[in-house]
Amino acid sequence: MLSQIAGNDFILAVVDKIGFTSGDASVTGGLTSDRGGPTSVDYNRWTNYPNIAAHEFFHILGLDDLYNATQKTSLMYYMGGKNRLQVSNTERTLMNDYLIHEIENMYKGSYANPGLDTRNKLQKFLNNSKYGFKFNKAKFR
Ligand SMILES: [Zn+2]
Repeated sequence: MLSQIAGNDFILAVVDKIGFTSGDASVTGGLTSDRGGPTSVDYNRWTNYPNIAAHEFFHILGLDDLYNATQKTSLMYYMGGKNRLQVSNTERTLMNDYLIHEIENMYKGSYANPGLDTRNKLQKFLNNSKYGFKFNKAKFR
């Protein structure tokens, strides 16, 4: 329920289908709007490739896709696969930088994802026609 989303929540939206295709026309099993989220996964692809959600979550934390064919075992390789679990030390450092930055913000007073606007970001993300999301809109309120 949208009313249960707080301004600084991380959101993983499980949708029926993601219509967005990347530049090389590969099908997208997960999609993240930008650092800080929200993010989404295609339910059927997620059941086949359980690492998709972790991959998308790490996009929220600032990690980018990897495209070099020598990195096919990496969690952040741009194409899905069952045995893609490696996270490099550089990636760990980036994630830690993000988390430490956010924790420092929490201690500075009223912590927020800038603008406390997770709910609005989620609505804009899911309703953006360029991503081609298919989901039960009647249950999304
Ligand atoms: Zn990715």
